Amino acid sequence: MATSPAPSRFDTLIVGGGLTGLTLAIAIGRLGARVAVIEAQPLEVLASAPYDGRVTAIALGSKRLLEGIGVWPGMADAAEAILDIEVGEPDSLGMVHYDHSEVGDEPLGWIVENRVTRQALIEAASALDTVHVAAPARIDDIERDAGSVELGLTNGERLRGAFLCVCEGRQSATRERLGIGARRWSYDQLGIVCTLAHERPHGGLAVERFFPDGPFAMLPMRGNRSSIVWALETGLARDVTALDDAAFVAEVQDRFGDGLGRLSLEGPRWSYPLQLVWADSYVADRVALVGDAARGIHPIAGQGWNLALRDVAALAEIVADRMRLGLDPGDGTALGDYAAWRRFDGLALVAVTDGINRLFANDLAPLRLARELGLAAVDHTPPARRFFMRHAMGLVGDLPRLMRGEAL
Ligand SMILES: Cc1cc2nc3c(=O)[nH]c(=O)nc-3n(C[C@H](O)[C@H](O)[C@H](O)COP(=O)(O)OP(=O)(O)OC[C@H]3O[C@@H](n4cnc5c(N)ncnc54)[C@H](O)[C@@H]3O)c2cc1C
Repeated sequence: MATSPAPSRFDTLIVGGGLTGLTLAIAIGRLGARVAVIEAQPLEVLASAPYDGRVTAIALGSKRLLEGIGVWPGMADAAEAILDIEVGEPDSLGMVHYDHSEVGDEPLGWIVENRVTRQALIEAASALDTVHVAAPARIDDIERDAGSVELGLTNGERLRGAFLCVCEGRQSATRERLGIGARRWSYDQLGIVCTLAHERPHGGLAVERFFPDGPFAMLPMRGNRSSIVWALETGLARDVTALDDAAFVAEVQDRFGDGLGRLSLEGPRWSYPLQLVWADSYVADRVALVGDAARGIHPIAGQGWNLALRDVAALAEIVADRMRLGLDPGDGTALGDYAAWRRFDGLALVAVTDGINRLFANDLAPLRLARELGLAAVDHTPPARRFFMRHAMGLVGDLPRLMRGEAL
C-alpha cells in the first residue's frame, strides 16, 4: 500500500473500503492500474472482532475469484466447508436435502467470519503498491468532466481518476449526492446474529428453517461451532434480543432441536435491521455502483456478497479488457457494458430473496401445503436439486472469467 506523500492521479477511484471495495481494489490493482480507496472507518476498526460479528457464506464461484486475486490463502485456514444444506419448514414433510457430492467434489460453499475476510483483504491490498487507501476519510466534494472525476477528501487529499466506483453499502451517501435514486423498503425484521458452540460436530451441514415469524439459519463454522442468522419481525426480535444469554440459548435450542447436542453462546449477539435497497441505475457519468450500493438484498439465501463479487468480477474484467486495448475504462461504453451485464442477476436475486421471505412468512393453510409439496418435489427430483445447488454455488449465468476460475 502506498504511504504518504499520496499520489493524486489514479486510474480508478473507489469509495467504501468494505468487503466489496477492497476486493475490487485488489482485482484492479493487480492489473498494474493505480487505485485509490476512500474508507470512512480506520482499517484497524474494520478488521477488529467487535466490528460486526457476521459470517458470510462464500459460494464456489466467489471462492474462485478470491483465489484468482490471491486473497483466499489468507482465509482458507479459517473457512469451514458447507458439504450439505437442509432447507425446509419445521414439522412438515417439505424438506430438501442438498448433498455436494451430487454436483462434484467441491463443497457447496464455505463459511468465513467477515473479520477474517477483511483482514485477508487488507493484507492483500497492503501488499500492492498500486493501491492507496485513504482511511479514515470521506468525500467532501466531487467534480466530473468528460474524461475524469476529481474528489476532495475530508483528510485534505485531492484525488483524480478515470472513474469512481461507489462501494459504500446500501445507505450510500455518494449515490444520493450524485442524484441516483433508490427504491427501498424495510422488511420490518431484524437479523439476529451470533456464534454458538455445540456438543456434537455439524459435519459441514448448513440448516435453513422457515418459521412463520421468520427464517432461521444455522451455519457451520470451524470446530464444534455454528453461526446463526435469525430474522424476526422487529418487535419480536427486540424481545428475543432482550432475553438474557441462558433464555436466548434456550429459545434457539427450542427452535433448532438437539441434533447438535447442548448449545452454548460464544461471544456477543448482534442485530441488523433488514431492508431491501435497489438503485434506479447501476451507473452514471464516470460512476459505477458496486455491491450493496447497487442493491442490498435480504440475507435469507446468503447471497448478498456473492452477488457483489459478481459485480466486482464483471467490472474488473471490463476494465482489464479496455486497458489492454488502450481504451478509457470509465467512459459511457464501458460503464454501459457493466450495467447491462449486471442488471439481470441483481434483479433476479432481489425478486427471489424477497419472494422466498414473503412466501414462507405466510401461514395460510393452502399456501403452506403448496410449499410443502414444492419442497418435497424438489427433494425427490435430482435434476432440480442439482439446478438449485449450481445456483447457490454461483456457477450459473453469464459468469465473468474470475468466477470461472480463469485469469483476469
Ligand atoms: C445478517 C446478514 C447476514 C448476511 N449473510 C450473508 C451471506 O451469508 N452471504 C452473502 O453473500 N452475503 C451475506 N450478507 C450480505 C453481505 O453482508 C453484504 O452483501 C456485504 O457486506 C456488502 O458489502 P459492501 O462492501 O458492498 O457493503 P458494506 O459491507 O456495507 O461496506 C460498505 C463500506 O463502505 C464504507 N462507507 C460507507 N459510507 C462511506 C462514505 N460515505 N465514505 C467512505 N466510506 C464509506 C463503510 O465504512 C464500509 O466499510 C449478509 C448480510 C446480513 C445483514
